Amino acid sequence: MAMDVFGLLGNPVGHSLSPPMHEAAYDELGLEARYVTFEPEPADIAAAVDGAEALGITGLNVTIPFKQDVLESVEADELATRIGAVNTVDFTGETPTGHNTDAVGALRALRDHDVTLEDARAVVVGAGGAGRAIAFGLADAGATVAIANRTESTAHDLAAEVPDATGHGLETDELADLLAEADVLVNATSVGMEEDATPVPAEALHGELAVLDAVYRPLETRLLRNAAEAGATTVDGAWMLLYQGVEALELWTGRDAPVDAMNETLRAHL
Ligand code: NAP
Repeated sequence: MAMDVFGLLGNPVGHSLSPPMHEAAYDELGLEARYVTFEPEPADIAAAVDGAEALGITGLNVTIPFKQDVLESVEADELATRIGAVNTVDFTGETPTGHNTDAVGALRALRDHDVTLEDARAVVVGAGGAGRAIAFGLADAGATVAIANRTESTAHDLAAEVPDATGHGLETDELADLLAEADVLVNATSVGMEEDATPVPAEALHGELAVLDAVYRPLETRLLRNAAEAGATTVDGAWMLLYQGVEALELWTGRDAPVDAMNETLRAHL
């Protein structure tokens, strides 16, 4: 039997944690498979997807800056179409299909920490790629979503697409009012990655909140430290990263992913 090849399309992909995480799963499942990274030029992205299909690659993850571009080259499912971004391509069917496992990844990360999403009041800070995926995912799970973004117009635009959502800016008072009533907070901005900063004032956090930070480098962001001090449930970004990979692997192989082995390997590489 030929070896299965999986991979990641992005640029850059040098520090990706996906190869060790997925290969740990192949070892555990006894699959003869490899996970490799590809860095095509942006102008070559359609050719890269066609080439992957022609070569018999089984599945690809897609990351920045290609998640939107790849939509053109695949048959995207309903959720990926709504989000407007594909992070997983499945070549096992007749035509390549596109999916977005970031959304489900965030939901599984929260549920794994016993967070109830149905009828929850959620605040998503950030309205870029991750914010879009998480906002649609939370709404599908039955939460009411408030989206707060630095560029407020982007939050309003996204809120107009997500059922029952509202759009907001990042002003301290408005955020504090939203969070006082909220059960779930997700940081889907890149704030906290480059520097020890947080998009949400510590005073607005409270013990009834569950806080997911999509940022996973560092694992313990200032937001999560503040949230823990406020007595909130904290969920770090590696959980979301783990479960987007788990979902992709389950889609490609049709098998239950060895979640513990993937989690252990992922955290060992962070
Ligand atoms: P993106 O599309 O570039 O969006 C960036 C978002 O961050 C926008 O909402 C942007 O607001 C906001 N932002 C950037 N700098 C800011 C600042 N100084 N103050 C306030 N807001 C700021 O990026 P993305 O793909 O959504 O990724 C966002 C974060 O999620 C990254 O840290 C990424 O690593 C992480 N992520 C994690 C996972 C996971 O599995 N854990 C998956 C996907 C992404 P404007 O609209 O105003 O520019």
